[in-house]
Amino acid sequence: MILIFLGAPGSGKGTQAKRLLSDRKWPQLSTGDMFRAAIKDGTPIGLKAKSFMDAGNLVPDDVVVGVVEERIKASDCAAGFILDGFPRTIPQAEALDRMLVRAGRKVDRVIQFEVPEVELVERLTGRRTCSKCGAVFHVKANPPKVEGICDVCGAKALIQRDDDKLEVVQNRFNVYRQQTAPLVDYYGRSGNLRAVNAFQHPDRVYEALLKNLN
Ligand code: AMP
Repeated sequence: MILIFLGAPGSGKGTQAKRLLSDRKWPQLSTGDMFRAAIKDGTPIGLKAKSFMDAGNLVPDDVVVGVVEERIKASDCAAGFILDGFPRTIPQAEALDRMLVRAGRKVDRVIQFEVPEVELVERLTGRRTCSKCGAVFHVKANPPKVEGICDVCGAKALIQRDDDKLEVVQNRFNVYRQQTAPLVDYYGRSGNLRAVNAFQHPDRVYEALLKNLN
């Protein structure tokens, strides 16, 4: 099963991908996570990506496509994988199609996560992430037991991602509308696209997701 999760920033793609990973063992290929790890490790890819990410812009297509192409060759992707945050532009989608054709594979499902934009701004700007273990909290909806301290790993390492700050969030939405939203039509034509109401409890979103995979 090759799955694509398509949705605006903060629409819950990562949360749902992690649930599928634990239930079905399909790896979650989050390009955002890959770039954050590359930045942390100071790799050449991380150096290229950082300024684009900090401003809420997209990393250039050739860089992203190269990273994904390498990753999907790994043995853990043989039975399937979830693309979380890729593709984000039409040229990325076309490059993905080409690399899958070369491998004799194809996209099986594209799940579109639908959430009203005002709700997403609130979700993103209130999000706090543990810089040690990656756990995610929200100042109102899911605050940590002790402010600034991660409930999961205990580190005093809860931060607001630079790209979750208001001006950057607004730019990420502009970028989404202009460059990523056209993918809804692109995949709509393939007949594999399914829309899921992602503006509900994560358990309900997961149920809707599973229905659309069967
Ligand atoms: P995310 O965690 O998916 O919201 O991604 C964080 C940031 O990483 C984005 O705002 C982009 O700067 C960069 N990024 C992640 N995936 C892509 C992609 N497929 N194409 C271009 N840039 C990406």
